[in-house]
Amino acid sequence: MHKINSKPLLNDNVDVTKPVRMCCVCRRRHNKPDLIRLVTCALNFSDDNTEQKGVALKIDEKGNLGGRGAYICKNIDCINLAQQKRALNRAFKCNITNLDDIIDDLTQITIEP
Ligand SMILES: [Zn+2]
Repeated sequence: MHKINSKPLLNDNVDVTKPVRMCCVCRRRHNKPDLIRLVTCALNFSDDNTEQKGVALKIDEKGNLGGRGAYICKNIDCINLAQQKRALNRAFKCNITNLDDIIDDLTQITIEP
């Protein structure tokens, strides 16, 4: 049977009447309170050190920081995947200089009740 599947991938618990964003790791869509926003903050490197150029990420807890942003699920599986697959490097199209720290912080947020 021919199956038409033009709708975006949605979780059962997504309320489409509220703002919906996509997780950059699993590419599922969720309501914003179920996601953590990450933003870049540029790092300064000396000119002879451009090969190590990259960006550091910050967790945007209030959702009001400027800069390039991406969302990730408040879900330990996604955070583990982000670390294994370097999905954040892909999402931001550059080297994340503090990836391990960010993964630690995300893990802390996720395991909080
Ligand atoms: Zn996800």
